Amino acid sequence: MRSLMAVMSIDEERITLAHGHGGLASHRLIREAFLSAFSTPELERLDDAAVLRLPYDRISFSTDSFVVQPIFFPGGDIGKLAIAGTVNDVAVMGARPLVISVAFIIEEGFLISDLAKIIRSMADECRRAKVRIVTGDTKVVPRGAADGIFINTTGIGARRKDVELSGSFAKPGQSVILTGPAGDHGAAIVCARNDLGIQGDVLSDCRSMADLIEQLLDALGNRVSVMRDPTRGGVATALNEIARASRVGIEIDETSVPIRPSTLAVSEILGFDPLYLANEGAILIFLDNSGVDKALEICHSHPGGQMAAKIGEVKEDLGGKVILKTAAGGRRIMDMLSGEMLPRIC
Ligand code: MG
Repeated sequence: MRSLMAVMSIDEERITLAHGHGGLASHRLIREAFLSAFSTPELERLDDAAVLRLPYDRISFSTDSFVVQPIFFPGGDIGKLAIAGTVNDVAVMGARPLVISVAFIIEEGFLISDLAKIIRSMADECRRAKVRIVTGDTKVVPRGAADGIFINTTGIGARRKDVELSGSFAKPGQSVILTGPAGDHGAAIVCARNDLGIQGDVLSDCRSMADLIEQLLDALGNRVSVMRDPTRGGVATALNEIARASRVGIEIDETSVPIRPSTLAVSEILGFDPLYLANEGAILIFLDNSGVDKALEICHSHPGGQMAAKIGEVKEDLGGKVILKTAAGGRRIMDMLSGEMLPRIC
């Protein structure tokens, strides 16, 4: 990609309202910033819509908006998150992500150098996830009408024929695997917010997981019935959603949940439970017991899955509840997140 800073003239240090008005400045921004980074045939045509030929009878289709604060954080930024988040939502439905749309809402005065960094990071993540951006939009709003930059992405993926995944398909007797340590994204965002005055070495786990998901489904097929990325509300909230949708109980063994010591330390200082802190690169998998060893072997050989572990089992009799067997030997209900623990986490 050409350097954005090299091609934009120096008087254009910041985004102005003109960059969103559809005239010359908009065209320059689109050509010099977006098209040079996201060079796909569909985008380069600059038509009103991308024309796609998708020879699949079933697709997964997901949209998400990203308002994370701060926009740059250890382990990622709003651009990487906007691609990985949507890729992961499409992939956990048993689909191979193919194409993405991107819409930016940018506040007047936003630094063009920051926009360049975000765009580069989005292009890199698209390459890693093997998806292409085929359509997009940019709006600029006056100072104060937005906070820096907001990004919406929508993704389409080709559904596999050999699996049928849904949060409502958990079955009693199945095992629950978590592919990465709980809460790393939430803990990284907390650390990155200066106003808390906390310094930590926690990195967000933000990454596309489509490749690992594809390997797992290739090996295990319909022995997997649920995959979900535990984002807002963390592992605890995602498990509750699945328990309710599937009308089953889920029993989690606290000592087997992978958690990084640094995430645990940040959580303890601030009084957060890491099981309620967001992940952006970990997947909960519900699968038949016969597939557990193979699934863990595949996870452990993937850079994002080295701490993968079986964390619990699905029970017939807990009536939509999630029960945590604690390290101390007790049992307690682990409910959904109530209220908003951390606004603008993603
Ligand atoms: Mg999701």
